[in-house]
Amino acid sequence: MYALVDCNSFFCSCERLFRPDLKKSPIGVLSNNDGCFISRTPELKKLGVPMGAPYFKFKKLCDDKNVHVFSSNFSLYTNISDRVMICLSQFTPNLEVYSVDEAFLDLSGFQNLESYGHLIKDTLLKEVGIPVSVGIASTKTLAKVANNLAKKNKVGVVALLDKDSETQALEKTQIADVWGVGRSSASKFESLRVKTAKDYRDFKNHMLIKKIFTKVGLQRLEELKGHPRFLLNQEVEKKQGIMASRSFGQAVTNMSDLRAAVATHASKACERLRKQESYCSFVGISIRTSPFTHDFYYKGQEGQKFEVPTQDTKKIVRYALNALDKIFKAGFDYKKAGVHLAGIRNKDEVQLSLFEATDSLKSKNLMKAVDKINRAYGPQTLKLGVCGLEEKSVWSMKMKHLSPSYVTGWRGLPKVK
Ligand SMILES: [Mg+2]
Repeated sequence: MYALVDCNSFFCSCERLFRPDLKKSPIGVLSNNDGCFISRTPELKKLGVPMGAPYFKFKKLCDDKNVHVFSSNFSLYTNISDRVMICLSQFTPNLEVYSVDEAFLDLSGFQNLESYGHLIKDTLLKEVGIPVSVGIASTKTLAKVANNLAKKNKVGVVALLDKDSETQALEKTQIADVWGVGRSSASKFESLRVKTAKDYRDFKNHMLIKKIFTKVGLQRLEELKGHPRFLLNQEVEKKQGIMASRSFGQAVTNMSDLRAAVATHASKACERLRKQESYCSFVGISIRTSPFTHDFYYKGQEGQKFEVPTQDTKKIVRYALNALDKIFKAGFDYKKAGVHLAGIRNKDEVQLSLFEATDSLKSKNLMKAVDKINRAYGPQTLKLGVCGLEEKSVWSMKMKHLSPSYVTGWRGLPKVK
């Protein structure tokens, strides 16, 4: 048996955690550069603001209806997500962190599953302060179905413990809402007259399903029947490519601002590289103007490969800035810069070279110290000078509605009267 625990309107719930005064107000969280809605509370959904809608189109409605909008505060959300997962791990030794706000729990052999689901939900609310929905069933795909229903009912917990309750749940689930069925597959299903999850489960021609939707499509059908095919994945996969890129809040024209942006992105990418204990042997950078300025459009890409893999920010930033020198052209309004690291390998796979030095112990210790300080005192507390010293630079994202770093910086700590 599996439980799927999913945090309700996760980013909004994180903001609400530190703003109890907004408990009943409509809240929305915006994507990078305050572009589109990426999280909405039910109160905001009721006002008719769709997922992914551009903020500027709904700004007037938001002002009129007293909607609280927030810029995305990812360091806050990641921190709260860690707390959610730690809290969940007390309920089972076997847990798969599926996304920032979702986890599968293996509950095989557990008794009284429905009340266990309630215990999980109540504990999370009490210990972390985040409301969740819990779906329990015999396979991961059915647990997803149960979770979707749990989100809609007031209780927040749905357990599918027998065939009848499974069938009823599948009848209520549209084919497009089945885990892993995208919009394009949904239309293919409809041409087979498969409209609900129940139609999918009961579809007799398995060969045809396999032909159109491959082996995974058939496994999903078997999961809907209650036969586990997708098992718990507890390994955290290491990324084979790390990308750090952002659009700028305003156009950047001069080289020193662009260097600061590229160095900052490269530093962030290196931090993620060290977090997964890897090394890289390639850094690529890209810069471009806005795609909407047709007459003056420019895009430049350049990369550098290095013989000995490294995880040292100083080296990688130097390589990235060399690459930038080669593609920078004056006279353009740059709107975006990105850095990506590739050729990623584990620390035990790094080969020595006769001609180039590997990261020295001194460099490793320095990077460790930098990461530790930045974790404790907030991102970018310690950084290379080339990243710029101003707190807010011209190339920073638009974040007009950013909440304080309540849990990741001393200055953001909530004050107790
Ligand atoms: Mg969620």
